[in-house]
Amino acid sequence: MAIALPRGTPLDDLRFANSFAALGDGFSERRMPAGIPGARLVAFSPAAAALIDLRPGEEQSPEFAALASGNALVAGMEPVAALYGGHQFGVWAGQLGDGRALLLGEVAGEAGPWELQLKGGGVTAFSRFADGRAVVRSTIREFLASEAMHHLGVPTTRALAMAAGDEPVLRERVERAATVIRMAPSFVRFGSFEIFHYRKQHAELRTLADYVIDRFYPECGAGDERYARFFTAVVERTAALMARWQAVGFAHGVMNTDNFSILGLTLDYGPYGFLETYEPGFICNHSDEAGRYAFDRQPTIGLWNCYALAEALSSLIAKGELEAGLARFEPVYRATFMALLRAKLGLATQRDDDADLGLEAFRLLAARRIDWTNFWRALSHSDAAATALLGADESSRSWFAAYAARVAAEPGDDAARRAGMRATNPKYVLRNWVAQEAIEACEAGDDSVVHALYDVVRAPFDEHAEREAWTQQAPAKYAGLSVSCSS
Ligand code: AMP
Ligand code: MG
Repeated sequence: MAIALPRGTPLDDLRFANSFAALGDGFSERRMPAGIPGARLVAFSPAAAALIDLRPGEEQSPEFAALASGNALVAGMEPVAALYGGHQFGVWAGQLGDGRALLLGEVAGEAGPWELQLKGGGVTAFSRFADGRAVVRSTIREFLASEAMHHLGVPTTRALAMAAGDEPVLRERVERAATVIRMAPSFVRFGSFEIFHYRKQHAELRTLADYVIDRFYPECGAGDERYARFFTAVVERTAALMARWQAVGFAHGVMNTDNFSILGLTLDYGPYGFLETYEPGFICNHSDEAGRYAFDRQPTIGLWNCYALAEALSSLIAKGELEAGLARFEPVYRATFMALLRAKLGLATQRDDDADLGLEAFRLLAARRIDWTNFWRALSHSDAAATALLGADESSRSWFAAYAARVAAEPGDDAARRAGMRATNPKYVLRNWVAQEAIEACEAGDDSVVHALYDVVRAPFDEHAEREAWTQQAPAKYAGLSVSCSS
């Protein structure tokens, strides 16, 4: 008789490697976490846990809560804080580094390694004058946004779990300490290369490049040509990521080079915001007074960051090759964005004037201050539903006429086409005011709103009839809500 064995690996049996730590002291600092005493597990992502084959149910153990709150490690972990630098708001800021994050170790997943990183586990050699902590507010925002973005189909770091405690932490007000365990194949950033370039540590720069290429860009081959191929691949991934942000309406808020992943992942969820009203110049970060990172500047800044990376790699790659790599940004951005736009419009075929159809829709949405997510979702139901949002005046009617004419050239029936659109245009994004609702409940000891919101953002294309309110813009209570770099 066959006995069904429980699936997955118990927490204690996870096997950890520490390849980044093995690069040596020049790349990171060994450091044990300072956990948050008595912290409780607030949220857990089964989808992220499946990536490391963690056995379902392990999250209920005290050991897991202890890990998530930085109070315990699993055998085999060798925590380190990574060194990196970065350009912040366009200015070289010198050394930064993991001031409150610790790389705990990496687990071999089916499709490659997953690093576990604890954020909020106390000071490191790179904390400068800050406290090494994260707060409930920023941690909920990171947990939910990471998982939301993944389920929206945007490359991103993941979040395994978050914990919250009572320890007071001073920000603009006194808040409570919290931690999140993030996951990514690697947390190496553009700024990880920049620091070695500006310090003229060319040997370390090459070691880091080889490390990243060997593990994540094996298609770049061997020999010195690998570096130019690698750079080109990073530019292409970054361009594609920017296109995805624009299509889903995600504003990152702090696109400093230390927050740009070498793997083309969305990294570091701080004062981000999903578009509500379609406002091309939307600035989500209250601290970004000049609007350097405004929504419509994101692709340009993504390219700017690639230039910064090119400079950092200039000891490895010839100028002409760097320029050739940079030249890939625009075509990849355009092609990816157009593919996403056609999907939003429900177009399976390509026509040259599709961009014009999209641009005219953007113009109307901006002029009328229509909700980005809700418009595309309404269009995924019917033209009538979208007209109800956009209005039935002359220019609106003329857009719908052009759209109908374009759609008439599409194969297949309209119902199937619209169903496809509903699998691409989400009903739910993580609106800041909704996150705020979850944060306030959690701060008052009630984690159920975080859980309910997590259930919605992990199925953003589904209808959640009981959560219709979360598709709406902020009610009066949250109308003036602003988010800043403070986290
Ligand atoms: P961020 O704006 O979160 O990307 O952080 C920029 C830099 O400041 C990074 O080097 C962080 O590690 C560091 N940092 C941010 N907040 C803290 C904190 N509370 N304690 C220590 N370092 C921090
Ligand atoms: Mg950062």
